[in-house]
Amino acid sequence: MAALVMVVCSPLPRFRALFQRCWGRLDRGLWPGVFRGQCPAWEPALAVQGPALLPQGINDAGESSTKAPSLLESILWMAAPKKRRTIEVNRCRRRHPNKLIEVKRNIDVCPECGNLKQKHVLCGYCYAKVKAETRLIRMEIHKKEEGPFNAPTVETVVLYEGEKPTEEDKGKRIIERARKRPSWFVQN
Ligand code: ZN
Repeated sequence: MAALVMVVCSPLPRFRALFQRCWGRLDRGLWPGVFRGQCPAWEPALAVQGPALLPQGINDAGESSTKAPSLLESILWMAAPKKRRTIEVNRCRRRHPNKLIEVKRNIDVCPECGNLKQKHVLCGYCYAKVKAETRLIRMEIHKKEEGPFNAPTVETVVLYEGEKPTEEDKGKRIIERARKRPSWFVQN
């Protein structure tokens, strides 16, 4: 244990002494190998940081490899307004009736669900409901017939819980759903 401590600790004072000696020589300017006999005074100096990567124009892209572009050439110039427009002029332009959003007056209430909808457009809520039910019916068809290419070219009848096929449904493709018929899904 004592040997280990000796190995670890013994170089430290030696290095410290070496650093102190070197720093003292540098400070006094007496190290001829570093400054070649001249001792510049240690004082604050101005450091200028220029732009490392400036955008280059399209035309001088090929020449840039041969000679470095000057600072003014490498700046990307953009168009700037020559005169200031007053706030009144700006507001008149921005709030012109042609630029405003049109107020919709063809809003109606959906007779099925009561949500607001446009008069000539399908109700989004009802459409989502029909879409979800159609997806479930298609899953039922897939379970029964295994794949979309086995579909027979006959009419399809969807029967819900508590419904039985009538005489008209003979020969038609019958799909059964294990739920009550929704009010909006009218039986043909
Ligand atoms: Zn609706």
